[in-house]
Amino acid sequence: MDHFLYRDGALFAEDVPVAEIAAQVGTPFYVYSTATLARHFRLFDEALEGMPHLVCYAMKAASNQAILKTLAGLGAGMDVVSGGEYARAVAAGVPGDRIVFSGVGKTRDEMRRALSGGIRQFNVESEPEMAVLNAVALELGTVAPITVRVNPDVDAKTHAKIATGKSENKFGIPISRAREVYALAASLPGLKVIGIDVHIGSQLTELAPFRLAYEKVGELAEQLRADGHDIQRLDLGGGLGIPYTRSNEAPPLPTEYGALIKDTLGHLGCEIEIEPGRLVAGNAGLMVSRVIYVKSGEDREFLILDGAMNDLIRPAMYEAYHDIIPVTEPDAGVEQTPYDIVGPVCESGDTFAKGRMMPPVKTGDLVAFRSAGAYGAVMSSEYNTRPLIPEILVHGHQFAVIRARPSFDEMINRDTIPEWL
Ligand SMILES: *Cc1c(COP(=O)(O)O)cnc(C)c1O
Repeated sequence: MDHFLYRDGALFAEDVPVAEIAAQVGTPFYVYSTATLARHFRLFDEALEGMPHLVCYAMKAASNQAILKTLAGLGAGMDVVSGGEYARAVAAGVPGDRIVFSGVGKTRDEMRRALSGGIRQFNVESEPEMAVLNAVALELGTVAPITVRVNPDVDAKTHAKIATGKSENKFGIPISRAREVYALAASLPGLKVIGIDVHIGSQLTELAPFRLAYEKVGELAEQLRADGHDIQRLDLGGGLGIPYTRSNEAPPLPTEYGALIKDTLGHLGCEIEIEPGRLVAGNAGLMVSRVIYVKSGEDREFLILDGAMNDLIRPAMYEAYHDIIPVTEPDAGVEQTPYDIVGPVCESGDTFAKGRMMPPVKTGDLVAFRSAGAYGAVMSSEYNTRPLIPEILVHGHQFAVIRARPSFDEMINRDTIPEWL
């Protein structure tokens, strides 16, 4: 459920007409709904009720300061995967003891930053990383709390580019080697083992892979406790999928996911962490774009939009599907025709949809890409010297620009000319 609905023939973001935002800020732009962000965060928080827990929003999904502040204000922790994200979380007022640091390639500088600024835990992904973190912690005269990310070799049944829990993926330590790696961790004075971490992939649309992974984590927790480790916390990652089409079968709900966690791991009495990203932000955002031309090809009609692959790369990168709807509600029963929906970038890959059935559309019309809140703005670039598009946050009747569109001069002046030119 989200808060982007038609009212009297016009698409609204909460209580704000989307067309009004377009008139004020120009197109294309991203718009997020505070109510939807909050609702999704609370669904997870409530799904884990009865177990000690912290929902750490995976901020790589959408990391604007205003979004982070909104979620932090509701009690969210943050899952960060870079020094930059750590700095963003701190700038948004998230206390260090609510920040979890994930990722396979943490550098010394990133470790130093997080250890100095405060950190809930590092999710360590390899023995070399463990050795470096130990050394950095000792240099700083402190002890780094860690979990080890285990790779349970489970097929998440999702797109290959976002599956992370199979043995061929770069993530985590094979679960079969976990006990020796935990023994190594326990021998390093700069580290304190506090739990286990797992994250098997993104956009999972079934619970079965989670169940397989969490059962393996549960068994491992018991073995590690028997080996003398203090396993108090289980970080179960993110990955619960969202409906990208309204026709499709809906993925499992956070309540069902929460029940699965209780069922598989509740008996261990551990504190539970989860790291949802997509499900919190995905359906809380639209990308809004304007039709520049309707062009007739030999055997098809092209809708050429002012938004492009540099603004929303998911279709080009993951063959992702986004619902694309007119901002002015079409009349009921109007005949739909197929369009290839494309952007202006000079690549054929700049195609959002092929043969997409749409009500008749004309130059100047506004269209909205649904489910664009996660892995949208954060993956955008200035390819073709197209400015990063603005981000807007709606809250009831109010809206605010939370990242402005840069001017061409601002973009150009980021380059510097060497003295010999
Ligand atoms: C990307 C990522 C997440 C979030 O995944 P979603 O599918 O967006 O919920 C959580 N944890 C880790 C370690 C990740 O890399």
